[in-house]
Amino acid sequence: MHYTGPVYRHPLEANTPILEITYGCSWNKCVFCNMYHGVKFGASPMEHIEEDLQELASVYPSNLRKITVANGDPFALSTKRLLEISDLIREYFPKISVISCQTSIRNIMHKKQEELDQLYEAMYDDLYIGIESGCDDVLKQLNKGYTAKQAYETLEKLQNSKMKYISLLMGGAGGKKYRDAHVRDTAKLLSTYPPKMISIITTGIATGTKLAEMRDNGEFVQLTEREIIEDEIRLIEELDVPGQVYFFGHHQNNVARVSGHLKNKEALVDGFRKKLNELELSKPEILDIALTREYL
Ligand code: SF4
Repeated sequence: MHYTGPVYRHPLEANTPILEITYGCSWNKCVFCNMYHGVKFGASPMEHIEEDLQELASVYPSNLRKITVANGDPFALSTKRLLEISDLIREYFPKISVISCQTSIRNIMHKKQEELDQLYEAMYDDLYIGIESGCDDVLKQLNKGYTAKQAYETLEKLQNSKMKYISLLMGGAGGKKYRDAHVRDTAKLLSTYPPKMISIITTGIATGTKLAEMRDNGEFVQLTEREIIEDEIRLIEELDVPGQVYFFGHHQNNVARVSGHLKNKEALVDGFRKKLNELELSKPEILDIALTREYL
């Protein structure tokens, strides 16, 4: 397989095969992210994609239903190119019904409604979007490359196209300064355009990132573990989304790992409160500090 640099998929996609169609990230400037440092962004040649499909077809059954196209942001490709790739995928796996990928608002926002409609028809779906926050100040602080207004406009187009998305959020991304606004505005964005799933990841500060510099010079003040858990509870309470939306809180960065459908909001909130109480008894020393996390 032609895998270039780090290849990532969400833990819940562990059984989904990965096909590289781009490598690196076309933005590569989010202050917290070092995933593709040193990897120059590029589009995989069609010959490489076809060779990899041949290899996947020798391992996976021809009735494969789902595939993930990688790496950081395949939607940086033109719609024409993405449609050519989906045609090629279906030559090898005719029963494919979902072509999933990681992507960012920054790349989807340049696509017109008709293009997103075409992509949905071509089986692109279950987009893992690094939403991180619904708060403009936080997006700016993280240097995500788009505004909250653009996130609203983009998710509206996505919803019109019927393409589903999974919202990746960064717990504590507002730091002390934007703590309240981060939770409030994120709940508002997700309640307006409900995702299929919300996956929350406590903000890590990797060595060598701009965010590490911002922490060291006092520009970004991290939340404590207690505050992170309290904010997860508040986010769940403020979300107004359909009950089938799944809240995935089991990322390795999270101290309190609680997951479940949002129809059981009270159970989720109870789960977090229980974890907080357990930590008060078993590891009280970690609750009022910010733990070091090297992973995003
Ligand atoms: S978080 Fe996503 S969009 Fe930002 S630099 Fe990393 S891979 Fe690129």
